[in-house]
Amino acid sequence: MNTDENILREKLKDKKRVVIKIGSSSLTHAETNNIDLYKLEKLVRLLTDIRNQGKDVILVSSGAIAVGRNAAGLVGKTLTLPEKQACASLGQAQLMTMYQKLFSEYSQKTSQILLTKYTMLDDLSRYNAKNTFEELLKMGIIPVVNENDTISTYEIVFGDNDRLSALVTALTGADLLILLSDIDGLYTDDPNLNKDAKFVPVVTKIDDEMFQMGKDTSSSNVGTGGMSSKLIAAKIATESGADMVIANGGHISVIEKILAGQNYGTLFTANYNEEFQMTDYLTE
Ligand code: GLU
Repeated sequence: MNTDENILREKLKDKKRVVIKIGSSSLTHAETNNIDLYKLEKLVRLLTDIRNQGKDVILVSSGAIAVGRNAAGLVGKTLTLPEKQACASLGQAQLMTMYQKLFSEYSQKTSQILLTKYTMLDDLSRYNAKNTFEELLKMGIIPVVNENDTISTYEIVFGDNDRLSALVTALTGADLLILLSDIDGLYTDDPNLNKDAKFVPVVTKIDDEMFQMGKDTSSSNVGTGGMSSKLIAAKIATESGADMVIANGGHISVIEKILAGQNYGTLFTANYNEEFQMTDYLTE
């Protein structure tokens, strides 16, 4: 790591409000799609500890459909939209029960926030959601956020929780977003197809060339976001004034390493744009 990179990484130690997004593939066992309880426990303990350090913490967790699909005995079946939505309804409640139980072991309060695209598009709903987040964080609560998959259909879906977590970062004025995925970060090309693909440790400006590099490289078949959705998330987060790190969620401890200023994943540095409007990212 060169000195400039070092300085940028060091700054992550001082973040005050952190949004962490974890995808379904990082929360489930690849062989069975069942929830990985060991990882869930570690995640909850770590987030509580970050909260105990005095930082505000928001968790954006996928997994509702994956958990519900298992509970409904539909693993391996291609789901129709109503089936997906029914699975989300079933799975979200189960997932939240697990989070509640695990957080309560550390006397940490948690709450659920389910958002749709319309929450962000409508000025009043967005204002109310912002106030709710603010109040929860003031109370020391760790909100667990997901898309309201049960009522979101084709035109109202966020698309994926990558974008959702970036919008939550912008809405709450968080200063860091950590996106945990099944990939190590950004490469110059798809590392599965091109052995010369190079890892990119820091991005200070997101341009069109970068979107070319970020062709969908995710191997995940349980979540929805590939690298291009992560780059859109990076644009939203950095333009709103936050740093963002994409890292591999294979080991939950990567979160504390990132917050300790260590060189993990790809860091996208904040690039505040005073004309930034989150609604610009909700229209397509
Ligand atoms: N909201 C979906 C779920 O919880 C996942 C969306 C995503 O993986 O981006 O199952």
